[in-house]
Amino acid sequence: MLNKNVETFLGCDVEYAESEIVLFGAPYDSTTSFRPGARFASRAMRGDSYGLETYSPYQDRDLRDVSVFDGGDLELCFGNSDKALARIKDFAGRILDDGKVPCMVGGEHLVTLGAVRAAAKRYPDLRVIHIDAHADLREDYLGEPLSHACVMRRVWELVGDGRIFQFGIRSGDRSEFRWSEGHVAMRKFDFAGLAETVEKLKGKPVYFTVDLDVLDPSVFPGTGTPEPGGVTFMELLNAVLAAAPLHPVGCDLVELSPAYDQSGVSTAVACKILRELLLAITKRA
Ligand code: MN
Ligand code: MN
Repeated sequence: MLNKNVETFLGCDVEYAESEIVLFGAPYDSTTSFRPGARFASRAMRGDSYGLETYSPYQDRDLRDVSVFDGGDLELCFGNSDKALARIKDFAGRILDDGKVPCMVGGEHLVTLGAVRAAAKRYPDLRVIHIDAHADLREDYLGEPLSHACVMRRVWELVGDGRIFQFGIRSGDRSEFRWSEGHVAMRKFDFAGLAETVEKLKGKPVYFTVDLDVLDPSVFPGTGTPEPGGVTFMELLNAVLAAAPLHPVGCDLVELSPAYDQSGVSTAVACKILRELLLAITKRA
């Protein structure tokens, strides 16, 4: 029998009704402060994911054994963040209402706000684990409150004090670092304390957002705002595996900008982190 030529992320080809996780792309990069191009991440990852195995020796699990539906890419209005975020919120909300976990591939980091809006509406008690090189806590960026440089400040407005747990942060304005005190739990430079945070958040609804620029640019140059002094691939992988037992209600992977790494390694890195994330957050049969 012949099948339709539809490209999904590797191994994510179950039907929507049977799925536990719904993968989708949010190809938006209109507020990127430095180098744009993250809008091309999800399609690059679908194609290059076929260079990966479905089997993970790290977890002894296989993408063929888990139920992930790839819903494709949203069609988002470039240059209009309000409209783009409303579309993301609506889409993520439908997935949540169907009892499934939205797993979004950016795009720039602002797209997280749309998915968190959907999650916070359904889980007023929501906590957020935020992995990033950047604090993303600005009140505004050049006068604009809807910017990828402000996304966690907007998330804080939804979830409140003590609900955001940041790891790997090594860049931001001095005012962001000052403001973080008393508002968010910020761990600079690495993942120390993540295990304790996971322990503390057990049983709570958690949204998990990974800005891939937390990686050192030597590992991951394909991003809009490269920031030297980052973590290794294995450090990020271990952090993802450590957070996964929380079974987040939603998650995302953002800020791959594939054209800045002609070797393709950054896209391969993003694909492998996504494979491990999908395997880790699905429940064992
Ligand atoms: Mn970010
Ligand atoms: Mn960042």
